[in-house]
Amino acid sequence: MKRNVLLNPGPATTTDSVKMAQVIPDICPREKEFVQIMREVEEGLVKIVHGDPEEYTAVLFCGSGTINMDICLNSLLPADKKVLVINNGAYSSRAVEICEYYHLDHINLRLPIDKQMDLAVVEKTLQENPDIALVYTTHHETGTGLLNPIREIGALVHRYGAVFAVDTTSTYAMRPINIAEDNVDFCMASAQKGIMSMTGLSFIVGKKSIIEASASYPTRSYYCNLYMQYEYAKKNGEMHFTPPVQVIYATRQALKEYFAEGEEAKWARHTRVHTAIREGLERLGFEIFIPKELESGLVAAAMYPNDPNWDFVKIHDYCYERGFTIYPGKVEQRGMFRLCSLGAIDKEDIEAFFEVFEEALRTYQVQVPVVY
Ligand SMILES: *Cc1c(COP(=O)(O)O)cnc(C)c1O
Repeated sequence: MKRNVLLNPGPATTTDSVKMAQVIPDICPREKEFVQIMREVEEGLVKIVHGDPEEYTAVLFCGSGTINMDICLNSLLPADKKVLVINNGAYSSRAVEICEYYHLDHINLRLPIDKQMDLAVVEKTLQENPDIALVYTTHHETGTGLLNPIREIGALVHRYGAVFAVDTTSTYAMRPINIAEDNVDFCMASAQKGIMSMTGLSFIVGKKSIIEASASYPTRSYYCNLYMQYEYAKKNGEMHFTPPVQVIYATRQALKEYFAEGEEAKWARHTRVHTAIREGLERLGFEIFIPKELESGLVAAAMYPNDPNWDFVKIHDYCYERGFTIYPGKVEQRGMFRLCSLGAIDKEDIEAFFEVFEEALRTYQVQVPVVY
């Protein structure tokens, strides 16, 4: 099979063994054989963040990663309480939109998108609003590459007696996370990112006791309710509605490969890839939006050069035809593109990419090093 190197922010490049794990004899997902596979997958997902299975569980949903955000926000807010969204990027802004759609009482705490989060501001907000029951933020703002200090935020949130839900879609199974030590009550991700499986399966890993308490909270969605899905899976061992069967087979294989590679070795590989990306961009003179000390180490957002010959679409197409996918973005009216380190790729792929990328720049007569 042709191998494409995806440098977009998910879905990621997968191994052939994960792709092939989807080709299985047809099976009804209500069969015991399938229920057993679901259980293996759920256990693996809790284990990735070192959750004690007595205390934490994984709840699976059919959908892209945004479904998790929707579910956590609509299901975990008690009556007459507020959500605080700590917002320093596009994904947290999406969470605010979800609050607006459900008419949830919420505070949109907007903070600079390219600076270290000011925890004093977060604490002041918690102090002034004792009715905040749920705090939500994004671990890694995939649009820019900014990493947020979840452990410190979580400690504050717990000091003020609230529940902490974190969108870890673009760090889970890449940067090591310890759900208890990182003070996280709920984290979330989807199968096509860190675990390098296919699209269509998303999951929330979180505290059973809080999910159980949420049984009495107002219900705001039928299909997307955390307690309903949890309760059904607990009783029946399966998802309430039709699961993405083949994706779950691929995910079981991806989890085997995750544990075979190992948490530390995998993070070291992502770091190698990201370092090669940063070096390649810097060599060509590109400015990177987030300073090194604040970045996740998984996304580099490079600013478009001020060169009349720069045309992202042309450069993209040139690379795409040669097996490399790059991804555009826009922050504060400034054009940028992203190179991401997700997926089953290594340093050599990045070296091969930069040969093609530089060739593309020269073909379209973009000045190198690039100018601003
Ligand atoms: C990818 C991603 C999501 C999910 O986006 P979908 O388009 O629904 O897959 C959510 N949050 C973050 C931080 C992400 O990187």
